[in-house]
Amino acid sequence: MSYKKVYLKPGKEESLRRFHPWIFSGAIHHIEGEPEEGEVVSVYTSQREFVAVGHFQVGSIAVRVLSFQDELIDHAFWVRKLRSAYALRRAIGIAGRPDNNTFRLVHGEGDNLPGLVIDLYAGTAVMQAHSVGMHVSRMDIADALLEVAGDVVQNIYYKSETTLPYKAELDAENGFIRGGSADNVAMEYGLKFHVDWLKGQKTGFFVDQRENRALLERYARDRSVLNMFCYTGGFSFYAMRGGARLVHSVDSSAKAIDLTNENVQLNFPGDPRHQAFAEDAFKYLDRMGDQYDLIILDPPAFAKHKDALRNALQGYRKLNAKAFEKIRPGGILFTFSCSQVVTKENFRTAVFTAAALSGRSVRILHQLTQPADHPVNIYHPEGEYLKGLVLYVE
Ligand code: SAH
Repeated sequence: MSYKKVYLKPGKEESLRRFHPWIFSGAIHHIEGEPEEGEVVSVYTSQREFVAVGHFQVGSIAVRVLSFQDELIDHAFWVRKLRSAYALRRAIGIAGRPDNNTFRLVHGEGDNLPGLVIDLYAGTAVMQAHSVGMHVSRMDIADALLEVAGDVVQNIYYKSETTLPYKAELDAENGFIRGGSADNVAMEYGLKFHVDWLKGQKTGFFVDQRENRALLERYARDRSVLNMFCYTGGFSFYAMRGGARLVHSVDSSAKAIDLTNENVQLNFPGDPRHQAFAEDAFKYLDRMGDQYDLIILDPPAFAKHKDALRNALQGYRKLNAKAFEKIRPGGILFTFSCSQVVTKENFRTAVFTAAALSGRSVRILHQLTQPADHPVNIYHPEGEYLKGLVLYVE
């Protein structure tokens, strides 16, 4: 079997020779046949040399590369790819721990599977397609996943209603495509979380902060903690386990606050140290006093596109300035940005400016990023999106 062929303009294969996994529509000279969106296509140089196979899509990224070898995208292919992804999670020691059944099994480009995210929560894998091709391939991927990771995956929940390009009119519905389970309590490093894969953000939980939460636990003893943008309360329970004096969780979403309270009940029933508030971050930071000496700022992505960068940096400046203003002397600030378009340097500059404005003495204790189950493909540096700083504020 051969796939429909995409021919590039002269010289446009250069980034593919460096294994970058995207082909932009502007690089394409012509396409033979009329591939449907999501179909697998073969890509050739203007000299008719093979360069890659990938998923075709209408849009600025026209092809997402699945392989740089001339191979079939069949069951054996998906098995190989998923096996490699699962092997990495075992190699880093996150799969197979008795105190942990939550991790990212597939991280898109980071696992050479552009457009596909799979998070594991207890026995349920939540699969999210960001490309039409991965949507079209979802049943093949599900079969391969059960074959490769059947020891940890019993159910597969497909959750792509909001992540697929709406112009493709796929009408994807969220739901179980293999098995089914109402048990939605997962465990991360011994702490329990309700995961709302039906309605929750992303795949239901922010797996990407796991290592940063674990680090926070080490600093929490006897501190008064503010977990701003708490969502399901992740950082709060680590702080409580670490011996915090009090923990306040804040999120503007009432639903998030309900989830946080439920999770407190799961882990520390009736513990009076925790309180949660549904309130806007900026309002809360303005009205709060100076009682906190450990503050976490983990806002949603302020910039989803390059055009929004300036405003986003201003947002990070303002937010961090408020924390510097109020945090107690000797306090520790965990501050993050998950916007892909905001670089590490951009973020540092925004935080530095905020620190300078506050006039406080600030030192960097840690520079944080995404955990190892969110690997960065060395040929796709854009995949590094999570940035964090841990600061000591005198
Ligand atoms: N720290 C969380 C993830 C945060 S996601 C974790 O570890 O899981 C970002 C959160 O910010 C969302 O829950 C969203 O509801 C909340 N949010 C967005 N805008 C906000 C605002 N202006 N004030 C307070 N919370 C806000």
